[in-house]
Amino acid sequence: MADHELVGAVRPIRLSFPFEYLMLPTTQPNQRPGLAMNPTFYTQHETGNMNTGMGADAHARYLANGAPNDAGVSQQLSYHLTVDDTKAVQMLPVNEVAWHAGDEGGPGNMTAVACELCVNADADQARARANAQELAAAVLTALGLGIDRLVQHNRWSGKNCPALLRHDGAWPAFVDGVAERLAGADSATVFAKPAPVPAMDGEDHVLGGRTFWAVQRRYQVATPTTPRADADPAAEPTRAAVAAGDWVHGVWVVDGADGRPWAVTQWGSRIPMADLTTRVTVGPA
Ligand SMILES: [Zn+2]
Repeated sequence: MADHELVGAVRPIRLSFPFEYLMLPTTQPNQRPGLAMNPTFYTQHETGNMNTGMGADAHARYLANGAPNDAGVSQQLSYHLTVDDTKAVQMLPVNEVAWHAGDEGGPGNMTAVACELCVNADADQARARANAQELAAAVLTALGLGIDRLVQHNRWSGKNCPALLRHDGAWPAFVDGVAERLAGADSATVFAKPAPVPAMDGEDHVLGGRTFWAVQRRYQVATPTTPRADADPAAEPTRAAVAAGDWVHGVWVVDGADGRPWAVTQWGSRIPMADLTTRVTVGPA
C-alpha cells in the first residue's frame, strides 16, 4: 500500500496499485472548464470500449487529445479518474468540474467526481473492478464522504452506465465491496493544510515574499520524503511520506527556508527537490 496525492483534495489516497497523473491544462476548457467544485458525490462510469489496449493510459490520453469524436472534433467531455486492472490515472483536480454526467449544469457535473472503469478485452476484468472499488473507497475517504455518495452515472442522466455492472447485476456487490473497504480505511490521521499557492496560470509569481517559479512537470520520488505545509523542514506534514518511485505533480519550485529548492504540488504540498529524481535550476542564471 502506498499513499498518493489526490490532486484537489487535502488528504492523500492509499492504494495497493499505481496511481499516475496526466493533469489537463486549463487551455482545454472542453475537458477542464476551470469551475470550482465542492465534491459531494463519486460517480462510477464504465468506458464501454472493449477494444484491446483501451485501458487507463489510453483513456487519459484521449482526454489529453481533446476527447475527439469520430470526425476528430473535440467534445465537451471529461472525467477526473480512470482505472483499469493495473493502475489509476488522475486527469483533473477533484475540486473542479468535469463533463461526464450528461446533465449539463446539473448536480452530476457540478458536484460529482467521475471515475471511468475500463472494460478493454485484454484486461483482467475482476482485477479492474477490484481496483475500481479500492479507488472509490480511497477517494470517498479522502473527501470525507460516505458510501451513500457512491452513485452510477445512470442516476444523473438515465444513461445505461456503468453498463456491465448494471447488466449483470453486479452493482450491489460492487457497492458492498466499496463499503467494506471504507469501513477498514485509516482515516484517523489528520494532516496540516498547505500554505497558499499562487494562481496556476503557468506564470512565475511572488507570494509571501517568495518567488514561485512555474514548472508544470511530474517528478519521481528518489528518496522517501514527507510533503509539508511549507518549504521548510520544520513545517507540518500535509500527508504521510511518499515512497521512492511514487510520482508527484510539481507546479512550482520555490526557495525553501533551508536555502534549498522545494517543489510545490498542485494543491500546495512542498517537497524538497533533493528527494526527487528530476532537478531543475531555481531562479535566474
Ligand atoms: Zn458514464
